[in-house]
Amino acid sequence: MSTSSASITTSEFTNPNLEPLFSAEQIQARIAQMGAEIARDYGAKNPLLIVVLKGACIFASDLLRSVDIKLGIEFMAISSYGSSTRTSGEVRIVKDLDVPIEGRDILVIEDIVDTGLTLSYLMANLHARGAASVQLAALLDKHERRQREVSIDYLGFTIPDEFVVGYGLDFAERYRNLPYIAILKDPNA
Ligand code: 5GP
Repeated sequence: MSTSSASITTSEFTNPNLEPLFSAEQIQARIAQMGAEIARDYGAKNPLLIVVLKGACIFASDLLRSVDIKLGIEFMAISSYGSSTRTSGEVRIVKDLDVPIEGRDILVIEDIVDTGLTLSYLMANLHARGAASVQLAALLDKHERRQREVSIDYLGFTIPDEFVVGYGLDFAERYRNLPYIAILKDPNA
């Protein structure tokens, strides 16, 4: 099974349809800085970090481990792209929180802010539940495509208007396992 030719032809990480944008090392270095900032800003507030599934799961698992303060974690899932590369504009909570958040300091962890439709809805929804504060940590910002204003309190990288995959981000559920972030050159390939 493990002949070298088989492992070369099946490698997902070196797929020629991917153009690397940020290496695993660049991502880790940026996340360490973000984690230190978050720890410094929240201090003893015991924030609740809300991870938006599925895309932010890998980013969140690394970010959490660089935030050296007392905190809690919850998960939500919001409908977004399905299997296309453009947002539908439809926003729906697919998996809701298991706990009330009244009076809590909330930090939403998201993979990418594109049009801003998903996040503007989610942030307003969390405010309406009586959170003491709602802030946002996003790994990527595709600012050129913004339709709704969203304030990103902790940002990893700004990227151009390209469809990216890897490090949790998918195309039709593929490529989430890449250890780096890449531009998907041809979605139909
Ligand atoms: P928005 O509502 O800001 O347009 O969309 C946010 C969601 O769209 C993200 O959470 C992500 O799931 C998806 N998305 C936006 N841009 C990209 C991209 O370049 N690559 C991938 N894989 N997903 C994206």
